[in-house]
Amino acid sequence: MSTDRFGGNGKLWDVVVVGAGPAGATAARVAAEAGCGVLLLERAAVPRYKTCGGGLIGCAQAHLPPGLGVTVRDEIDSVTFGLRGQRERTVSSTTEVRCKMVFRDELDAALTKVAAEAGAEVRDRTTVAGLEDGAGEVVVRTADGERIRARAVVGADGTAGRVSRHIGVSCEQVDLALEVEVPVDPRDAAKWRGRMLMEWGPLPGSFGWVFPKDDLCTAGVVAARGQGDATRAYMREFLERHGLAHLTPLHDTGHLTKCRRPDSPLARGRTVVAGDAAGLCDPWSREGISFALRSGAWAGEAAAAIARVVHPVDLGRARDTYTAAVLSTLGAEMRASRKVMDVFTRRPGIVHTALTAVPPVWRRVDSYLGGDTTIPALLGTPVARVALKAVGLFT
Ligand SMILES: Cc1cc2nc3c(=O)[nH]c(=O)nc-3n(C[C@H](O)[C@H](O)[C@H](O)COP(=O)(O)OP(=O)(O)OC[C@H]3O[C@@H](n4cnc5c(N)ncnc54)[C@H](O)[C@@H]3O)c2cc1C
Repeated sequence: MSTDRFGGNGKLWDVVVVGAGPAGATAARVAAEAGCGVLLLERAAVPRYKTCGGGLIGCAQAHLPPGLGVTVRDEIDSVTFGLRGQRERTVSSTTEVRCKMVFRDELDAALTKVAAEAGAEVRDRTTVAGLEDGAGEVVVRTADGERIRARAVVGADGTAGRVSRHIGVSCEQVDLALEVEVPVDPRDAAKWRGRMLMEWGPLPGSFGWVFPKDDLCTAGVVAARGQGDATRAYMREFLERHGLAHLTPLHDTGHLTKCRRPDSPLARGRTVVAGDAAGLCDPWSREGISFALRSGAWAGEAAAAIARVVHPVDLGRARDTYTAAVLSTLGAEMRASRKVMDVFTRRPGIVHTALTAVPPVWRRVDSYLGGDTTIPALLGTPVARVALKAVGLFT
């Protein structure tokens, strides 16, 4: 990836985007398409590995730029659900658009390439150390001491982001996810092809997954932070159970997932945050790519509007438009999913039974995975409202 070092201390960029994941690459593309001079800064060398299952649900697929050249490593048409290693049941998809599996380094590099083609300057191996709000601009400080000036900034630097700290993002749910990426032999690859596994775990709100990708599988577990030993023990047992423990992983990593508090800020001054940096992530499934792509696009639009602001009132309007877009869609989805998470945490057996033994429930979840409906729409159906009432949650 080219690392043109243009844009020194003197240049005032329209938009600087921090982080070249799905949120940042999308924001950079959208702002560049709006005619802005955009600088996209990424700490790692692109392409970079990212701890992630790489599962694209239908909603995420629908928000990828058309013609994105990313290789789909598997298309999922069935899901095996399990409850702590028992009561395994495989159900099949009926939707046309299915969950697709990609490698995150390939996806993110493809999104970054499209941003560069739209006109964004990409500078990787550049770590942002902090931001300073100035008069009509923001100064972005890099770890090697450079000061980059911008009319608007998008923070898309993930769950441990510097920009989140600057904005004051606060999260109400923080989980630890452990993941391995392991090569599997041709026989095991055939066993997993087209099928993913979701297994509800022993710790409250935890689950494990196996996602197939050609001759590799991504497998991991997620549980609330603060119980590291128990989560690691769960991971060992999970890998053992699924015949993956003896394989030498290509990657063996851990990463936090974070969900914002409903009142957590999304913007400050001339800076907006998107994706994981904003704590935008599904509280139950921890799906975050669709959240990153959508908030990234709106953040790119907001940053373009902020870059053009002449009157302070327009600054507030641009921030409010962004906040309203995020809250009315992603905020509503997170609220609904949190209800599912509450039921799941208390009664995983009920969720398991509903998914595997009540066909209409699976059909609806399947259409969510395919991108035909949303969690709020699912929970708004009369059947779901009655079911939620029965377990003590009211819609
Ligand atoms: C184990 C695990 C499995 C997951 N599986 C799935 C899944 O299957 N499907 C799904 O939809 N979601 C999944 N998620 C969630 C998903 O990975 C995230 O929601 C998604 O990556 C968010 O994208 P983003 O662009 O906001 O952030 P990121 O993808 O984290 O990108 C942030 C970028 O910012 C860069 N950066 C960080 N700090 C700086 C800095 N100071 N200066 C410059 N650059 C910086 C990073 O290097 C990184 O490239 C999973 C998460 C985990 C932890």
